Amino acid sequence: MHANRHIPQPPHSAGEPYKGTPAASSLWLRPRIDPSQMPSPIDMIESDKEKWEGNSFMTLPGNNPPLSTSDFTAFDQGNSSPKHVRCFQPFADLDPREEPIPVVDCGDSGPPRCKECRGYINPWCAWTAGGWKWKCNLCGHETQVLPDYFCNLDANLMRIDLPNRPELNKGTVDFVVSGKEYWAPPPLPKMNSSLNPLNCFFAFDVSLEAIRSGFLKATCDVLRDMLYGSTSLDGTLPEPSFPKDSQLAILTYDTSLHFYDLSPASSLASMIVVSDLEEVFVPLREGLFVDPWKSRTAIEGLLKALPERYLDTVIDNAALGGALLAGLASLAGRGGHIIAFQSVLPVIGPGALEPLHDQASLYGTEKERTMFLPRHQTWRDIAEECSEEGIGVSMFLGMSKPIDIGSIGIVSSTTGGELFFHPRFNPARDQHVLTSQLRRLLTRTTVYNCLLRVRCSNGLRISNYYGNFHERSVSDLDIGILDSDKAISVHIEHSRKLDAREYAFLQCAVLHTTPDGQRRVRTCNLALEVADLAANVFRYADMDAVVCHLARESMSKLTSRRMAHIREELTDRCSSLLLGYRRNCAAATAVSQLIIPEAFRALPVYTLAIMKCKPLKGRNVSADVRNYHAQRILSMSVRATMQHLYPRLLALHDLADDTALPDPTTGQMSFPSLMRDSHTYMEAHGVYLIDNEDLMIFWVGSSVSPQLLLDLFGVDDLLTLDPNIIQLPVLHTRLSAQVRNILTHRHAQRGRTPKMLLVRQNMDGTEIEFSDMLVEDQNNAAMSYLDCEFHLTNGEQLSGGPSLRGSPW
Ligand SMILES: [Zn+2]
Repeated sequence: MHANRHIPQPPHSAGEPYKGTPAASSLWLRPRIDPSQMPSPIDMIESDKEKWEGNSFMTLPGNNPPLSTSDFTAFDQGNSSPKHVRCFQPFADLDPREEPIPVVDCGDSGPPRCKECRGYINPWCAWTAGGWKWKCNLCGHETQVLPDYFCNLDANLMRIDLPNRPELNKGTVDFVVSGKEYWAPPPLPKMNSSLNPLNCFFAFDVSLEAIRSGFLKATCDVLRDMLYGSTSLDGTLPEPSFPKDSQLAILTYDTSLHFYDLSPASSLASMIVVSDLEEVFVPLREGLFVDPWKSRTAIEGLLKALPERYLDTVIDNAALGGALLAGLASLAGRGGHIIAFQSVLPVIGPGALEPLHDQASLYGTEKERTMFLPRHQTWRDIAEECSEEGIGVSMFLGMSKPIDIGSIGIVSSTTGGELFFHPRFNPARDQHVLTSQLRRLLTRTTVYNCLLRVRCSNGLRISNYYGNFHERSVSDLDIGILDSDKAISVHIEHSRKLDAREYAFLQCAVLHTTPDGQRRVRTCNLALEVADLAANVFRYADMDAVVCHLARESMSKLTSRRMAHIREELTDRCSSLLLGYRRNCAAATAVSQLIIPEAFRALPVYTLAIMKCKPLKGRNVSADVRNYHAQRILSMSVRATMQHLYPRLLALHDLADDTALPDPTTGQMSFPSLMRDSHTYMEAHGVYLIDNEDLMIFWVGSSVSPQLLLDLFGVDDLLTLDPNIIQLPVLHTRLSAQVRNILTHRHAQRGRTPKMLLVRQNMDGTEIEFSDMLVEDQNNAAMSYLDCEFHLTNGEQLSGGPSLRGSPW
């Protein structure tokens, strides 16, 4: 790396430039710091990867878990894997080398539960009264053991049957439950208790915009491929992806609702129109939900015919509210998944919304927060009713004008569903991304009709939850659907001093229905060591969890506070944490010295990245984009959050010869190290790949060599390189194979394809998207990492000092 060859900073996004803070205006105060000497998240990520790849993490308390960004296997020793409990992500994908989650059936009486706090039996309970009682680790209460669960104790007061009881050995287990209370936990009396596989209700907007943009045709084609398989662009044959045993219904809608009778008996789907959008009812019972294989002729015929049928439509409205109420009415009493495809702002029907006016005028005012709130109560009502009925709502949005995600998006965030955002939908560019999203949606582990509760031991108190759910009461979260990619974070407070000689305990229990209709409870248990020395609090801290939580907390404040305040609070939180460390653990060091606890080395740069993320960024981001990203950040896994905030940057022109190619003897591949997100480290003859989970961008330098272009893109001139390509060409060069292997690996890790852009240095306007992702630079109307660090560590002298508010002291 030659410092003098780096590129100039790529273009800023237009709009408000960063105006400076005390740190920037007092630049003369700042000693000259070499940016490469700043604490780097990449050093942490890469050394942790090296440490854990190929190693097993043993889950007993007292060990620092691997970072969320490392691929590791965990061995459950009675404490749940960090994959499940770093944030609560109870259905996180496991590594194929890991043991599956055990399923425990305790018979008719169900799993033993504490009489006092209703906590579930787990490895941290103690046995007393000769095995006739168990002492709850959460509340300390002793509960009688039922005769059919009784077992004698050995000399160590452990049950003799311990080795054969997964629920007494493993942190994460699934209990089979069949008792009535698990079907109808009060006040939810409606569920019937027969076996109900997860049913899907697909709703297609067939209004003018959906036809014009090609969104309807693309979505119908993609659903057909999911149901019956297809041939993809690269010639492979993806398997059908619809869950076995599940049934589906299809609705189309514009200013009325069109139901379809898909009975296997008839090869043609007959349509029944419901025009009353205010009193939505379901006009048929038989033939609404069908097995896709038994009704293949009718379904395939319908999905092929729909785009043709509405080709000449003049209706430019689509009543999303009515369509969701139709789904709700169809799935009520049994739960399921509504998947809606919408192209326009719903200006008619339930929850009809006025077109949005100039929202730019809201910025910086007290009304700024209204962008993040539904403008019509109906959306909140639909959302809450769906989640109480065990229904999740996911939405694919392919629009050309604002669609008000602040209003309609609450339905997916409250029900545990997901938003897929395709502004200015273009089938040529977006269809393969949409395909991978729908495939992930239908194939990832998804349970439904969920009730989640986190319990903690005495001395701790849960004060807040962040994520996608409906908070029905203070402690119970209703979640329509919950999948492997979603996580919930919990804010826990001390209610009194903890005893450092004892563990603190958490238990997350999710009552749910599996896709094939079994009612179960998944419990995740965590025992934690209590640290009474400040130094240990910092030493064992989990920065990834802290960053993820800070990001979620900031997103959740958008509905009540101005963005500028949220950004200030973030800086405050970060600097008071560092100040707490300085005062408690490093009091003897010089005030001007940079003091950061090892585990939080990268906290300042991640805090800066949160301030720069789309929802919080100063100006020039539409309300839809802000809301979409806020919802994503509130629900995604810790790993996805870390990789979203600090995108993964790779130099593709520098790959070692054996990188990202299978080792001839072991078949294993090693992947290249990441780079820091700053133009300071980039060179104009290079090709770089940046990826923030949502978007990946190939950046091609202006003095790139023709050979490199030829090897990777199949053209030898920057001017003839097509910036609109959506996939890398398959070329028989080493570089092409390496880069495609990297992309395949990432696809396997996240389960879907992000959107792809290609930008040429100083040539393509979208280069702004790229420069905005270089979070260490000054951009996004916010300072650079260098200024930020100086600001944080010197804030004390400059502005009278941050308070200890928000710090552990
Ligand atoms: Zn208890």
